Amino acid sequence: MTQRTGVVVIGGGQAGLAAGYHLRRLGLDHVILDAAAAPGGAWQHTWESLRLFSPAQYSSLPGRLMPVQEGQVYPDAAHVVNYLAHYEKRYELPVQRGVWVSAVHRDGTFLRVETENGEWRARTVVSATGTWTRPFLPAVPGRRQFTGRQLHTVQYKSPTDFAGQRVIVVGGGNSGAQIAADLAHAGIHLTWVTQRPPRFLADEIDGRALFDVATARRRALAEGRADSGGVASLGDIVAVPPVRAARDAGLLRARPMFARLTEGGVEWADGTGAAADAVIWCTGFRPALAPFAGLRLRGARGRIATVGTRAVGEPRLHLLGYGDWTGPASATLIGVGRPARDAARAIAEQLRP
Ligand code: FAD
Repeated sequence: MTQRTGVVVIGGGQAGLAAGYHLRRLGLDHVILDAAAAPGGAWQHTWESLRLFSPAQYSSLPGRLMPVQEGQVYPDAAHVVNYLAHYEKRYELPVQRGVWVSAVHRDGTFLRVETENGEWRARTVVSATGTWTRPFLPAVPGRRQFTGRQLHTVQYKSPTDFAGQRVIVVGGGNSGAQIAADLAHAGIHLTWVTQRPPRFLADEIDGRALFDVATARRRALAEGRADSGGVASLGDIVAVPPVRAARDAGLLRARPMFARLTEGGVEWADGTGAAADAVIWCTGFRPALAPFAGLRLRGARGRIATVGTRAVGEPRLHLLGYGDWTGPASATLIGVGRPARDAARAIAEQLRP
């Protein structure tokens, strides 16, 4: 069965909902197709101790402040899932769940969106599929030889799964630091490995300040002033309370990356070795853009070139979330609102008869 609509939004996480909010405000006919069975996007799959790096009110989508979580300055992931579930109900966003979009094709003046439950013909498509379903693992010598457990950030839940084990955490970003701190606090035998020495942001810098820096950078670039380098120039790791506590207790000392994995552990650059039962790869994500393979838009690092949110090679396609290349801070809760609004406005122009 083929259905028609003005806009198909693919993905019902925070980016898809922010798009729905603005499309609805502009009165544009749309549907949000989400593969997941339940609301909350990636937040429903993160590890148990994860805390946001911003207070609740700085983690809000357009239109509705995130309520404060009782007893917590930095809310946990379950709080975000609740917030997103209420958000889509409150704004009566047309989310269809359990719908996996397999492909998008050009079809005359339409884009044809194929799913396991039938297809849609849409005048425009917003891709808000996130990155969580595309964990990235680097090519490291010996990875197949290692007989212990290897998992990515997306599979990590809690230190109780590693009781009595020697664990190596790879990665100097927020996920690596938070998971390393989680294991260290639980007394797990931890080796934290990073490609370059970890760069902790100053303790007073959290998501609020990061958002301000991203906003200042956007303004500077828009006004033709010099690029300040944005958030990346400040550091990589937000010192959320558990990370700060582990760092201050001397539990977060990173070693440089190992040379290779061996059958029973790792070999360091100097030829010495260390035994390990598990390696947790906190090595990032790539954008989940498989449905667009047939449009032949992919460029470097698996991205699609954009101007604002619009795909350069297919003006009927907009991308939201993912990273700064689709708008400053657009892969954060507070940051996705502006690019979502801009995308909806651009779409309104496109759909104007
Ligand atoms: P997602 O939340 O991943 O949602 C995408 C949705 O699309 C999913 O429901 C998925 O099932 C669906 N989907 C994917 N492919 C398809 C398909 N082909 N067909 C149909 N549906 C599909 N941000 C903050 O603001 N504050 C923080 O403190 C913070 N901490 C973070 C900590 C970690 C460890 C990580 C990884 C990220 C953090 N972020 C934080 C960043 C950001 O908020 C998240 O990455 C966010 O989940 C991105 O939202 P999204 O809507 O783009 O993608």
